[in-house]
Amino acid sequence: MFLRGSPPPPAAHLAVGFLLLGSPAFARYSPPDFQTMKRSTFFRLLAALVALPFLTSCSNAADSAAKIPVLIVDGQNNHDWKTTTPVLKQILEQSGRFTVEVATTPPAKSDMTPFKPKFSDYKAVILNYNGDPWSPETMDAFVAYVKGGGGFVSYHAADNSFPAWKEYNEMIGIGGWNKRSEKDGPYIRYWEGKIIRDESPGPGGHHGAQHPFAIDVREPSHPIMAGLPPKMMHGQDELYDLLRGPAENLTVLATAYADPAAHGSGMHEPMLMTIAYGKGRVFHTTLGHALPAMKCATFAITTQRGVEWAATGKVTIPAPKDLSADSVVVPEYLK
Ligand code: ZN
Repeated sequence: MFLRGSPPPPAAHLAVGFLLLGSPAFARYSPPDFQTMKRSTFFRLLAALVALPFLTSCSNAADSAAKIPVLIVDGQNNHDWKTTTPVLKQILEQSGRFTVEVATTPPAKSDMTPFKPKFSDYKAVILNYNGDPWSPETMDAFVAYVKGGGGFVSYHAADNSFPAWKEYNEMIGIGGWNKRSEKDGPYIRYWEGKIIRDESPGPGGHHGAQHPFAIDVREPSHPIMAGLPPKMMHGQDELYDLLRGPAENLTVLATAYADPAAHGSGMHEPMLMTIAYGKGRVFHTTLGHALPAMKCATFAITTQRGVEWAATGKVTIPAPKDLSADSVVVPEYLK
């Protein structure tokens, strides 16, 4: 795991010494009297004790430098997943933090039993999926994965999916469309300085005309948002409003104002959220309808950081310096 050209750390010398002390070649040249054997055992133990902390810290350093394996699930959506998945993958890989694989389900209205990815091979699973229910076996495996500490990222229309899957709706916190209503839980709004639950009846899920809009950070100390500006302009997108759901263990990280002039709700609506589910971490981004929304520094950084946080509970990806409250910034690699 050492970088080519850099000198091996002291731990490597100690480990080599320890291996030599324990090797048959060394033993062959040791006088066979009892005192020397005891001394040799003593030195081996000493070398092991001295080397242990170095070896441990060495392997920790290697772990933190290792890339995080994540999985994107696509295959059915009322959105153009064939176009958005490659850009999502590109954005994640650009951070240098992830290895990204894609699992594509069978098409709609077909047998879903062949779709059974090994979720536990990944630190986070990102759903670019809005389609048929999976097999009961795969749904159970996904709940067990997140409940057991896996990361889950709900991306844009993934929060439209699975209206009848109780655990899924608990994981995403709030969702929309597919006959969601007051039976599914409250609306969640930012109102007069705080997040409120609005139990009033009505449909779940709506958006006005697509347009660029600003994201307002509501949890500036959360690792995903730390160091980002309080307001960031986001590229032309659908501004999801009127989402509703159980909203348990949900934290709203950022909102956007759904301007009635663009046929929005007139409310400050949740855009980025986290949900604690069992031992798992969920990051929910409503953003990213299509390429104009994805090719945007605000989408890129919040997605990269959200995925890293869901996968590890920490964020190491630095904040870009060029985010703007007033204009959409397109990173060079997405032009
Ligand atoms: Zn959309």
